[in-house]
Amino acid sequence: MIPKNWDMTADVVVVGYGAAGVAAAVTAHELGADVIILEKAPEGQEGGNTRVAAQGYLNTSSAEKAAAYLKALCGPFTVPDEMVRAWSEEMCLNNDWLAGLGGDPQEHQHQPAGIEFPDLPGADCVHKFHDGPTYGFSNTWHRFESLVRERPIRVCYETPGRELIQDGASGEILGLRAGQGDASVFVKARKAVVLTCGGFENNQEMIRNYLSGVPYCYTSGSPYNEGDGISMALAVGADLWHMNNFAGPSMALKVPQFTTTFSMQALHFTKTMPGGMIVVGPDGKRFTDEKFKTRHGKVPSNGTWQALVTPCPMHMVFDQTLMASGPLYDKTPSHGWTQIIERYDWSEDNSAELKQGWIKTADTLAELAPAIGLDADSLNETVARWNAHATAGLDEDFQRTLMLTPLDRGPYYAVELSPSMLNTQGGPRRIEKAQVLRPGGGAIPRLYSAGELGSIYSYLYQGTGNIGECLAFGRIAARNAVEETPWS
Ligand SMILES: Cc1cc2nc3c(=O)[nH]c(=O)nc-3n(C[C@H](O)[C@H](O)[C@H](O)COP(=O)(O)OP(=O)(O)OC[C@H]3O[C@@H](n4cnc5c(N)ncnc54)[C@H](O)[C@@H]3O)c2cc1C
Repeated sequence: MIPKNWDMTADVVVVGYGAAGVAAAVTAHELGADVIILEKAPEGQEGGNTRVAAQGYLNTSSAEKAAAYLKALCGPFTVPDEMVRAWSEEMCLNNDWLAGLGGDPQEHQHQPAGIEFPDLPGADCVHKFHDGPTYGFSNTWHRFESLVRERPIRVCYETPGRELIQDGASGEILGLRAGQGDASVFVKARKAVVLTCGGFENNQEMIRNYLSGVPYCYTSGSPYNEGDGISMALAVGADLWHMNNFAGPSMALKVPQFTTTFSMQALHFTKTMPGGMIVVGPDGKRFTDEKFKTRHGKVPSNGTWQALVTPCPMHMVFDQTLMASGPLYDKTPSHGWTQIIERYDWSEDNSAELKQGWIKTADTLAELAPAIGLDADSLNETVARWNAHATAGLDEDFQRTLMLTPLDRGPYYAVELSPSMLNTQGGPRRIEKAQVLRPGGGAIPRLYSAGELGSIYSYLYQGTGNIGECLAFGRIAARNAVEETPWS
């Protein structure tokens, strides 16, 4: 239905105010377009995953090497050469773009450790940057946000895009219906709509349908990313890609009172803490090196990389020494929605969380097991085996080397862990002009996308590649959107 009256009009309507939305909106504005950004979240919670990310973005040093590296990352899950070329040519320009707008690109100090797959061809093209003096703490996001604020770009908060309005005959996207509370708002896009509304991290039905190996999975990023862009694009005939690829899973605490996850310090690959700790599945057995540094959720498996197995429900079982060593959760607001936006004040001695039942305890393992739904004999056996291996200094089952400490005498504790993720990669299939494609080919006229909503990453992922890609394809989308002739 094409509305008789439109409530708002712009040349380019950008749906979603994260990094991709910023890059698209600012670029379109710089090219002379009148731009509106529609954002689902209330003011103060905009920015999506970008706002709470670790704040790194990729700026590759050579287009040729970047193309080789991306191809290798995709492995057997190939993407078309034209897309690889567009990505690699644009990813070298992120710093120039940001600096040209008054930003302050700074290279991460831990180079070259940030190269996630150093053995792949072209890997030394990777250079990770952030804006401003420190890494984390929403710093890069605050720069992005200021680029919008400094310009007459209209931002409509609490105005989620609900459905695209498509000309029945030509298939062109003319605008969209957005929501403001229960009311509908019709927004006309004279030239184009750019979808930048993130992934489906907070949509359990999409997670069950699209991600393999996880019956449920929770986000450590924005809860507003509920797959709306996928539903909107599907309804106008878009194809999808990379739906089963995601930056995860890791294992984290999820409690009913909060939508997003709490990361457990004892599971962090860089931290060693006093005390004994293992993670077991529903059969009461260990299933992984709990301290392994996954590559954004992927672990090596017979010469390939596969998503970490997460047999749910999982439990972190630990001893009094770990319990008494300080808060199980690191609340530093450097990254993560729970840390930065929710700001839950976890107690220093874990007592408040014990009282709330987030942490369970019992004097013996035999008593703890039924309290967390496990078989007591199995848990006892697992702990005895771990303790023997830890004492001998050799984890024969999973070759863990960090926190190789036996679980002490009781009391014992347990925290239920759920699969957690940073972000999904799938969404509408994108081509090199950032247009959204129909199944079988042919772009949907006047519809563009950028960011993690239909990201290029099909298999392995290089950290900082997502925000880097948001900037690259946000600019590409805007340049092409602005070239469109206004419809009448
Ligand atoms: C803890 C954490 C750390 C990370 N660290 C890094 C890192 O250092 N480097 C890196 O490259 N990647 C990192 N990532 C991943 C990265 O943050 C995201 O992939 C990237 O920021 C996605 O940007 P985007 O613009 O596509 O989407 P987002 O930044 O998620 O923005 C999407 C926006 O769309 C809005 N929205 C949703 N639905 C609608 C709708 N219907 N209508 C209007 N608006 C809507 C959302 O509210 C949100 O504001 C991290 C992720 C997390 C969670």
